[in-house]
Amino acid sequence: MEKNIFEKIISKELPADIIYEDEISIAFKDINPQAPIHILIIPKKRIEMPIKIKVEDEQLVGHLFVVANIIANKLKINDGYRLVMNNGENAGQSVFHIHLHFLSGRKLSWPPG
Ligand code: 5GP
Repeated sequence: MEKNIFEKIISKELPADIIYEDEISIAFKDINPQAPIHILIIPKKRIEMPIKIKVEDEQLVGHLFVVANIIANKLKINDGYRLVMNNGENAGQSVFHIHLHFLSGRKLSWPPG
């Protein structure tokens, strides 16, 4: 199966500004940031979209939120960040490898567009 763009970042075939990495996840700056801080937190395992998450992925997906906490601590952000995961094109998903958007550094409006 051909690697998707995020798998090429995982394998370091494509460069990325990596903020955090462990055995099962990696986090890097978004190439087209929508806020002063915009980081993508992804599992190394290929899961195309949130709706494809299976019961056996529970721990893995939970881990992405723990990584978000690690990043918030690392960047000393105690408040005012948003975690978003888009499912499908209508929700704005453009890369089909699940990723948690970590957005911060400006006032974030609600509801999102
Ligand atoms: P989605 O629209 O699927 O929720 O989010 C995909 C995100 O990946 C977008 O915010 C987009 O800017 C980012 N992105 C797409 N290609 C690359 C890339 O090659 N490198 C990095 N760092 N981010 C990317």
